[in-house]
Amino acid sequence: MDNAVQLTGLSQPELVSFVETLGEPAYRGRQLFAALQHRRLRSFDEITDLPKELRARLSQMAQAATLKVESRYVSSDGTRRYLMKTHDGLPVETVFIPEERRDTICFSSQSGCPLQCTFCLTAQLGLLRSLTAGEIVEQIHIALNDAYGTGVKPPRGTNLVAMGAGEPLLNLDQLLNALRVMADPQGLHIVPNRVTVSTAGVVPRILDLAKTSDRPHLAISLAAPTDELRDELMPINKRWPLDDLLSACKVFEKTLKPGERLTFEYVMLDGVNDSEEHARQLANLLNRHNIKAKMNLIPHNPADPLPYQPSSETTVDRFKNLLESKGIHTYVRRPRGRDIFAACGQLAARQTTLINIESNSVGANT
Ligand code: SAH
Repeated sequence: MDNAVQLTGLSQPELVSFVETLGEPAYRGRQLFAALQHRRLRSFDEITDLPKELRARLSQMAQAATLKVESRYVSSDGTRRYLMKTHDGLPVETVFIPEERRDTICFSSQSGCPLQCTFCLTAQLGLLRSLTAGEIVEQIHIALNDAYGTGVKPPRGTNLVAMGAGEPLLNLDQLLNALRVMADPQGLHIVPNRVTVSTAGVVPRILDLAKTSDRPHLAISLAAPTDELRDELMPINKRWPLDDLLSACKVFEKTLKPGERLTFEYVMLDGVNDSEEHARQLANLLNRHNIKAKMNLIPHNPADPLPYQPSSETTVDRFKNLLESKGIHTYVRRPRGRDIFAACGQLAARQTTLINIESNSVGANT
């Protein structure tokens, strides 16, 4: 089935064309789209409103779902992490984060990651491959079906963040295809305005994204205020140094809608990038480029082979206050799901035996 068409990555018009090539009327394509994207069904057998004979033909040439859930971990704070496998056996991780007023699903854009950020565990996997649009969309189906039941409308809004494994801007075409599929009101209906894409700083793609209509929000992972330190922590900086990155951010800023802001993420590493001097340098950097952004400070999520510790609360507060005093809106992000290796930078296909492992439980619709 490796050559089978992955139907979850196709938009409604694409599905209509697909069924037409099989000699079926257009409405069958719309029916199929609703079954896959609105009812979030994951096998042709379940789509009982399609004729049996058509279902049989579809199963021979196409796939309704390709990802398999290997394990599911539930944190004491309610966060859930899914470790899935692609049809070719590669790991994909997704994190579901329930909050009072909305849910956030953190999805992966690649299996592994080619970037070598020294504070991120995913880097240790290297790049296995980029995910297809269908594999991106499926992650959302799996998380929502598990949280609420197959096809059940989520009681709160769903926000998406491309902050799982991988560098989303190195897989921009598939990512944008997935976002188009998910935006359809007759499907998941999660519009780009509810989606944030985080990048380590792939400058040409930031410029492409700035030109894209109906684009998601953008977040930039900074981690350091100087080229010297950033070269060390995020080697991508040698290719696109801070001046290039911030110039691209300035271009992007011009495309922001009213009320929309660019976000920077700054992981706080004890004794490495968290001094008052670093805070001053960071504020000067943004102010020199005249960028009005929101700064998210992320306390480092430690993981065994990583050589860092999180900054203390006092250090983070001091850092935040200094940035605020220079006019930068700063927020401290609370880590979620650390106990199940679901927090930022901890996704490396870990099979932990901590708590609540229920293999292959998703899709059972319990
Ligand atoms: N490649 C993209 C998206 C994945 S990382 C990017 O770099 O933005 C998502 C966020 O997790 C980034 O902001 C990154 O700085 C942060 N992060 C990575 N490792 C971390 C760790 N160990 N602790 C806390 N945050 C981390």
